[in-house]
Amino acid sequence: MAMTDAYIGLGSNLDGPEDQLQMAIKSLQHLPATTLIRVSSFYRTRPVGPEGQPDYINAVVLIKTGLTASDLLKHMQAIEDNQYRTRNIHWGPRTLDLDLLLYGESIIHDVDLNVPHPELHKRGFVLYPLYEISPEIVIPGYGSIAKLLQNANPDDVQKLSVS
Ligand code: ATP
Ligand code: CA
Ligand code: CA
Repeated sequence: MAMTDAYIGLGSNLDGPEDQLQMAIKSLQHLPATTLIRVSSFYRTRPVGPEGQPDYINAVVLIKTGLTASDLLKHMQAIEDNQYRTRNIHWGPRTLDLDLLLYGESIIHDVDLNVPHPELHKRGFVLYPLYEISPEIVIPGYGSIAKLLQNANPDDVQKLSVS
């Protein structure tokens, strides 16, 4: 089976964000035809968007998967749904966001899937954890992670000690 390196960005700012991320990482580990290869540290990051919401916890994981990008996205959405449903009955801020950042060298422009993730290159909360686990990576269409990080603000992210 052809295995592809895929990077997934995780984020949460509600209902025990660190537990939300741990739970999501366990679920990713159990996806069919998939091996979890690396997990970044957790980072506390300033929320982007409306003021008054709690800080986010963000991380990035690397998996090797035999799933297609589209099947992987469906599984990621099922993991999100599962954690929203059990943790957050009423409409509100999300308990878990899983973004497919990179899928091998692929450039994908589908109605429901854009890879590399269109905001990846400008988000410190993605670039720092991604650099931590893959400092040599090149983002298709954007260049080296080291170059992209030159425009990121280190004050936006705080690396947490391993829990
Ligand atoms: P952003 O994409 O800017 O981080 P968001 O994560 O808040 O915003 P969502 O509401 O979680 O956005 O997702 C909206 C839609 O984005 C999903 O239904 C999905 O089909 C689509 N999408 C497109 N590309 C991707 C990707 N690379 N990873 C995850 N979802 C994607
Ligand atoms: Ca997102
Ligand atoms: Ca998302």
